[in-house]
Amino acid sequence: MSYIEKNIKELRKEIDEICSEIGRNPEEIQLIAVTKTVDHERINEAIGAGAKDIGENKVQEIMEKYDVVSNVNWHMIGHLQTNKVKYIIDKVKLIHSVDRMSLAEEINKRAKQHGKIMDVLVQVNVANEETKFGLASNEVFEFFEKIQALEYIRVKGLMTIAPYEENPEAVRKYFKMLKELFEEIKTKQFPRVEMKYLSMGMTNDFKVAIEEGANIIRVGTGIFGRRNYN
Ligand SMILES: *Cc1c(COP(=O)(O)O)cnc(C)c1O
Repeated sequence: MSYIEKNIKELRKEIDEICSEIGRNPEEIQLIAVTKTVDHERINEAIGAGAKDIGENKVQEIMEKYDVVSNVNWHMIGHLQTNKVKYIIDKVKLIHSVDRMSLAEEINKRAKQHGKIMDVLVQVNVANEETKFGLASNEVFEFFEKIQALEYIRVKGLMTIAPYEENPEAVRKYFKMLKELFEEIKTKQFPRVEMKYLSMGMTNDFKVAIEEGANIIRVGTGIFGRRNYN
């Protein structure tokens, strides 16, 4: 068994264990294998081991790998430049990183041209980190008021990237905040908004995220090992 296969098995076991401790159904939890810097051979190994959803944070990497990696759902999880939307609009299943109206409008325009409805998540910077993208929590409602007018976009939930902390307990409060926002938005019943997905939790903090209600987790290092950026 390859280390990738072993890591995925181990992850699924951990997900099962957390879910049984807190009384959630593990099938609710979507595992996204984050493949930035990972070559297509290793991605295909992960697919062989049961990975069905792949997350990339750069348009360029999706473009390079799209034709050599098949039978998966692609997720755009990183900062998306408006002028690059056109390259991925027909390739990705879900864009996790919508954080401004100009981007939402461009996605809407390109989706319309392709005759499709694009599913997106709204990225929230719950910890208010200067170095991270995402809306501030207090901007979220106004943003939903506006984005719900776009006919070729369906908002499917929220996404956050928690600050990196050695001890994942330190970020529990941010996951709680995102979950609260999620529930609050649900009660507003905006048209074209279906609050279904809560995308939060990475290698270091996915357990806490699941405990706080995540149903999409994004794991890179925990599957492929440490990234080599060279
Ligand atoms: C890289 C990345 C991840 C995965 O991070 P790991 O710590 O390697 O699991 C998750 N989400 C986003 C947005 C990322 O860029």
